[in-house]
This record gives sequence, structure tokens and C-alpha cells, in this order.
Amino acid sequence: MKKLVMLMLALMLAGVTMAQAYDADVIVIGSGLAGHAATYSALEQGAKVLWIEKNPVLGGSTAIATGTFAAAETELQKERGIQDSRELFIQDINRIGHEKADQNILRAFVEKATAVWEWFVRAGLPVDVKRGPFIDPSHSPYSVPRTYVPSPNKSSIYTDLLYQKMQQYKDRLTILLNTKAEHLVVEQGRVTGVLTISDKGTVTYRAKAIILATGGYGSNREMIRQYSPKYSEVMTVTLPFATGDGHRMAKEVGAELVNMGYICAYFGGMPATPGKYAIGFGDLTSGAADAWKGDIWVNKRGERFINEDDSDEDPREVALNEQPDLESVIIFDQGMVDFNKRFPISNFEKRLAENPYAVKKADTLEELCAAFGLPVDQVRREVAATNADYAAGRVDRFGKKPAVPFSKGPWYGILNRGVIFMTQGGVKTDIGMRVLDSKGRWIPGLYAAGEVQGTSQWGGYGLAGGTGNAPPLVFGMEAGRNAASEAKLLK
Ligand code: ADP
Repeated sequence: MKKLVMLMLALMLAGVTMAQAYDADVIVIGSGLAGHAATYSALEQGAKVLWIEKNPVLGGSTAIATGTFAAAETELQKERGIQDSRELFIQDINRIGHEKADQNILRAFVEKATAVWEWFVRAGLPVDVKRGPFIDPSHSPYSVPRTYVPSPNKSSIYTDLLYQKMQQYKDRLTILLNTKAEHLVVEQGRVTGVLTISDKGTVTYRAKAIILATGGYGSNREMIRQYSPKYSEVMTVTLPFATGDGHRMAKEVGAELVNMGYICAYFGGMPATPGKYAIGFGDLTSGAADAWKGDIWVNKRGERFINEDDSDEDPREVALNEQPDLESVIIFDQGMVDFNKRFPISNFEKRLAENPYAVKKADTLEELCAAFGLPVDQVRREVAATNADYAAGRVDRFGKKPAVPFSKGPWYGILNRGVIFMTQGGVKTDIGMRVLDSKGRWIPGLYAAGEVQGTSQWGGYGLAGGTGNAPPLVFGMEAGRNAASEAKLLK
């Protein structure tokens, strides 16, 4: 008995010692938009923060992203007399996301996005007032102008500003670059630490709360194969660090992963050679696609599958995801080039020379089909049907009234494949960014924000304009604030 009391006393003392051995109040893992926002807001709440990034530089995916931000009921909208409401914003995202968003997370985003946007404006974010608020034509358009453009239009403008603002707290901030978080540490049911690997070897850091801001898993082929086998070979434009480490670490400690089967690949991928990818991203998206008349898109079976002229990009994106190998060939002829007075992608002739695998020209439709390996009879039927619909002034089976017929060679084709540039599945959280287990219970001490949550939690299946930047910033701020509050309670 005496021995047992001694042992318990020793354990309690060990517990006290452990509780005192925190390296920080809050550890933030990852330094994209969510990591910057979380670090800033935890510091602003008075927390001592340890910030861990596996890359040699901070910034994550901001290196390649533009800066649009969507929010409703803003000062800029009011100045312009734009009638908007948070409810309308929610309705729009539900429409665009096919009603698949987590309604609580979506509402939390929309409710908080306004204040976060205004905070950035007050903090000195340069806004391009000539370009916004506007209705972003990428993806599916909102019903009112509510997308803002910073100047320059780069995602890194937010992280630069946050980094600058956090300098006032730098005595409470430690940044570890080239340091990879490998596993979370759980003690008595709480997440209390992170095991890291760096040139210092394996080191465990302890904190009262940990925030995962590790981004998506678009560059992890194994995870894509495991969760979305249909996308196993689909090309990706995510950066190499998007390996789903946060998803894995959270799962190891019992977190629920949601919507891991969702991937919505976007069109615009132009393979350079089999297995080697070049991206014609932007050229083939909505602006060009609906303004450029006449082209038909056929799948590997030579069948059309969509109204190519639909000004709403979403149906085309979703339909491409349903085609074999997420592949289509955009076919048009010289008569259409003359009608539109340009080619449907920029630098067409240059691309023809540089990327003969994806961009082709032939004297006849038969030769073009042979070059792409398309079944010529089926494509011929599609071309004849398009010309018959044009001649009769008829709307076709996809709701398109052809504006120009196929009339003369040469014939042109562009191979267009779906491409992954964000991942939709992720770590389930509540509206305070607390990570939940499969029974919906908090995992004490653990938070997640940004693409690690999966874009589907706030956006459903699809991507609404301006939500590449806004949710990671909004939820990063929220995670930082709540993690700092939890840390205060443990003092
Ligand atoms: P978000 O938009 O959600 O902020 P990003 O993709 O921009 O996501 O950023 C994620 C960041 O997390 C990247 O800088 C990436 O290098 C970093 N990261 C991912 N996994 C780890 C890890 N295991 N340890 C440390 N940093 C990580």
C-alpha cells in the first residue's frame, strides 16, 4: 500500500513536471494562409507560439495562388450600393457546392469572413477597387459581386501582411524551418506534443494546444489511390509538399476524416507527353470556353457530353470528372477560327509546335481523329448533328444552339484533362476548428484549419470563387484564437 501511494505521488509529481515542460502555449504546423493566420491570432491573444514548417521557407501554396477573397455585407459593397447578405452567400455556395458543404462550417465561414476581410483592409491590405467587388467568372458565378482583388493579385499579400503584423510579438514566437512534424503525442487523452524530424534529429516539442495547418494531399499519389481510386492517374498541379501529413497525423490520434472520396478535378490539363504534364490552365476555363463559339468537346468514345458554351463553368467541370480518364478533346475547324477571329487558347501555333501530344492540326477530321485515337465514326456523327442543329436553328440535346457550323479545314484538336489543384477531403472539425473523432467528440488540444480540413467542409463538391484564400484565413484566425484560449485555461 505504501509502495502504491509512493508510486502515485511519483506519477503526480511527474505529471506536474511534464505540465511545466511546455515549449510553447500553441504549436502551429504549416505556414500557408491558415498557418500564418493561426500563428498571428494565437500571438495576438498573448500565446507563446512555436511555428513548425517542413519547407526551407514560409508561405506554402501562396507561392502559386492568386489573391481573390469573397465576403458578403462588406463596406466596399455598401459603398457601391451592392445588395448582398450572408444568407445569399450561403445559398450561392450551396448551389455551387451541390449542397454538400457542412452547413455549420459553411455558416461559420460566411459569418466570420466579413470581419476578417475588413480586418485586412484596416490593416492596410491594398485593394484593387477597379476590379472588385466583382462576379468572378471562374467556376460557377455568384449571384452578386462579392469577390475582392488585392493589389498585386497574389495570395502571398495576406501572408506578408500577417508576417509583418506578427513582428510586434516576435519575443513570443519561435519559427522552426526545415522541420517536419511526423507524429502527434497524446498524454492522458490530450494532444500535448509533436514529434519532429530535422537536421537536429528527432525532437518532441510540447504545447497546450496544437494546430494542424498542413494543407491538402494533392501530391500524395498513395492517398489519392487509397481514397479516390478513380483519380489514381489524374494529373496534379499541387506543390510537392501537399502530402497530407496532417490528415495522417490526425487520423493516428483518432480524428475523423470526411469526404475523402471527393475529388473535383478541374479542366485545363494539357499533357505534354504520356505521363508528363503541362498545364493550359486558364485558357480553357469559362471565359474562353463560353465566349469562343463552335467547338465541340468529345470524350474518348468520341461522344459529346456537355453544352460547351455554358457560361457556368461548374457543369462542364463536373461532367469532365465523369468521362473516362477525365479526358476530352476540344475539336474545331478553320471556319470557327475565322468566325471567332482567334484560336481558343493563346499562342496556339507555338503550342502546336511545342506540345504536339496535346495540340494537333490536320487536313481532315479523319486524320485528326486518328491522331488522337478517337473513333472517327462517332465524332463524324457529332459533327453532322451539330451542323444539322445549326442549319435548323435548333437547340441540341445539351441545351446549346450552335452559333457556327463546321465548314472547312484544317481541323484542330486540344487534349484537355481534369487536373487536381486542391483536395476536398479532410480532418473533421467543429466551428471552433476543434478536431473531432468519429463519435463527434473533441480531441482535446487539437485544432485544424485550412485545406487540411478539406475544401468540401465549407464548399461542398465544387469551388466557389474567392474561397481559395478566404476560408484558410478565416479558419486559421479562429483556430489560433481558440487554441490560445484553451492554452490559457491550462495555465
Ligand atoms: P493552407 O492553404 O491550408 O494554409 P498550404 O498548402 O498553403 O495550406 O500550406 C501548408 C503548409 O504546411 C506548407 O507550407 C507545407 O510545407 C506545410 N506542411 C505540410 N506538412 C507538414 C509537416 N508534416 N510538417 C511541417 N510542415 C508541414
